[in-house]
Amino acid sequence: MQNEINEFYEQSNQSGIWAYEPTTHMKKSKQQATEIRGVMKLNEPMMKHTSWRTGGCAERYFKPADIDDLCCFLGQLAKDEPLLWLGLGSNLLVRDGGLKGTVIALSGVLNDCRIYDGVNMHVGVGVACAKVARMSVKSELTSGEFLAGIPGTMGGALAMNAGAFGEETWNIVCSVETVNRQGQKIKRAASDFEIGYRYVNLPEDEWFISAELLLKPDEGGKGVERIQAFLNQRAESQPTGKASCGSVFRNPDNDYAARLIEASGLKGKFVGKACVSEKHANFIINSGNASAADIESLILFIQEKVMLDHGVELVPEVKIVGEQACHDGF
Ligand SMILES: Cc1cc2nc3c(=O)[nH]c(=O)nc-3n(C[C@H](O)[C@H](O)[C@H](O)COP(=O)(O)OP(=O)(O)OC[C@H]3O[C@@H](n4cnc5c(N)ncnc54)[C@H](O)[C@@H]3O)c2cc1C
Repeated sequence: MQNEINEFYEQSNQSGIWAYEPTTHMKKSKQQATEIRGVMKLNEPMMKHTSWRTGGCAERYFKPADIDDLCCFLGQLAKDEPLLWLGLGSNLLVRDGGLKGTVIALSGVLNDCRIYDGVNMHVGVGVACAKVARMSVKSELTSGEFLAGIPGTMGGALAMNAGAFGEETWNIVCSVETVNRQGQKIKRAASDFEIGYRYVNLPEDEWFISAELLLKPDEGGKGVERIQAFLNQRAESQPTGKASCGSVFRNPDNDYAARLIEASGLKGKFVGKACVSEKHANFIINSGNASAADIESLILFIQEKVMLDHGVELVPEVKIVGEQACHDGF
């Protein structure tokens, strides 16, 4: 079996599709394996794929050619292969020791986006949130404008129930399609999920591949202005254009993480090259070449200080994944 897999990688490498050496993470035959058309990279630096611009390498990084390719790839994986699904990495801290297993990168693929029946939109998870906002407005529909300033994909927005300006992703979702570890597609109604603040209970070993959105006709036709107003509001209150992950902590009940952090005097606080934004205290900026350990240490520092000063436990909204580097000192 291993010989067959090795041959597959050698063959694929000759065709230039694959950029890596044989490994043991695939389980099936050469015949099935050769159907894969996506791009695989070994030891891919995750700093290239996260908005914090830091973090270690992914052992394997796979960008499928399309949905069939993704299903085929999943069907061939060893069942214990660790997987991380990646959109635009705008809510992700990858530790400096990197990621074991395979990153499934979907930004720019699974990017089908179309309006049907007047008010519905089909959207693949690789589509950028901003595109969904723009397309809905262009089609004289409303309800998707809040997505304009969220710098992620629809996959990340579904997984995080991303929201802004009083709206949330799942408010406009009717149904989704998911894929499981065996590469089988599953249709699910929005009502199959428990939805909360930056939370959705996606079953284990199942991931989003597309969504059907329900928008509303925009009688006034002022969608472009609403998007611009949202973007202006962000630019006024957030350090847009800096390497960050947006809000680091969830807002506690009846309060704001930013208010608590600012009240603790932490604006401008540095750990290494990571610092609390002067503009918005719930943002941590990579001010140069901050390591993931700098950022994680600052997160811990903020949590301890806010607990000490206010008795409130701040819970990170960002997903912290991967292995600590040996020299992190944790
Ligand atoms: C400047 C800035 C402003 C921001 N403003 C907001 C805001 O206003 N509101 C808000 O909610 N967030 C905001 N964010 C955070 C972030 O943009 C959102 O959480 C976004 O939805 C993440 O999308 P992504 O594609 O980057 O996801 P990633 O960071 O790539 O992934 C986030 C999580 O989703 C999982 N995931 C990704 N794709 C899938 C999939 N297809 N199926 C299952 N799981 C998946 C990942 O495994 C990971 O756990 C902001 C971030 C930045 C940098």
